[in-house]
Amino acid sequence: MLDNYKIGQPFVYNFVSSIVKNKKIAHAYLFDTKNLTDKMEFVIFFVKAILCEKYINSDNCSACEICRNIDSNICSDIKIIELDGLWIKKEQILELQKEMSTKSTELPYKIYIIKNCEFLNKQAANSLLKFLEEPEEGVIAILLTDNIHKVMNTIKSRCQVFTFKKENNNENESKFDREVSILNKSIENSNGLDIIDEKKIIEQVIEFIENIEIDKERSILFINTKLDNMVSNRVKLIFMFDIIFLFYKDVLNYKLFYKNFTFKNYGKEIEKIADLNDIMNIVRKLKLITKLQEKISNNINTNLLIDKLIIEMSEV
Ligand SMILES: [Zn+2]
Repeated sequence: MLDNYKIGQPFVYNFVSSIVKNKKIAHAYLFDTKNLTDKMEFVIFFVKAILCEKYINSDNCSACEICRNIDSNICSDIKIIELDGLWIKKEQILELQKEMSTKSTELPYKIYIIKNCEFLNKQAANSLLKFLEEPEEGVIAILLTDNIHKVMNTIKSRCQVFTFKKENNNENESKFDREVSILNKSIENSNGLDIIDEKKIIEQVIEFIENIEIDKERSILFINTKLDNMVSNRVKLIFMFDIIFLFYKDVLNYKLFYKNFTFKNYGKEIEKIADLNDIMNIVRKLKLITKLQEKISNNINTNLLIDKLIIEMSEV
């Protein structure tokens, strides 16, 4: 039952139970489940709490026909959409819309659940958007994601978003977080650079980021000269990319109200860059940095790599 989440997920629990109690059901929910292991179990409790009259009173029904049908997966008013290969495809959403367009004969609501909604392909997302913009009466959408940063903003903005607390379990650590912790370590352990050198590089790199953010492509004209001694040294270059990545991760944390910063002394700069970007932009930039980072180890011309970084960052 929902009560199982009272201690582990107090924030989500409070919201969800008040929705159910007050019968103020929205037409779309997005759960940022952070790799929660029993997320479907939670969703089923939520669905039951919406549909079953007895559930609210006893807080644990499971005995009525509705709950039994839900448990045995034969409730025709609930539809679950999952990945079809790598993506959720447009045809799946169109079929879903068709099924949802008829009114339920027995239940107050029809409910559809989309697992991994971060993997809706573009056409599927557009179809879903239209559906979310003009919701059918009596239809509830429940979207699930393990990576809220990958969900389109337009979809997020049409849903009530609930963020689960992360489970303290290394196995459930996301790939993204793992990457960050590896990079953090690489900064901690350093890489043959002495501390003074490191501090100076960090300062220069953050200034470099500010330049790109403000002057965009134009910064190519003067930036390479400033970074000259960094660009010609592969160790420094790797370190530089680590800094850029971690700095944007800090910007993202700032946007998401997390207080866990790598560059604690650069609060003002973090805030400044955060103001210039929305969350999706930051995520795109992080991806771009990671993509270019991989190229350092190939024998690529490092000057060209920096130019590429400036140009592609400016285009985001
Ligand atoms: Zn029931």
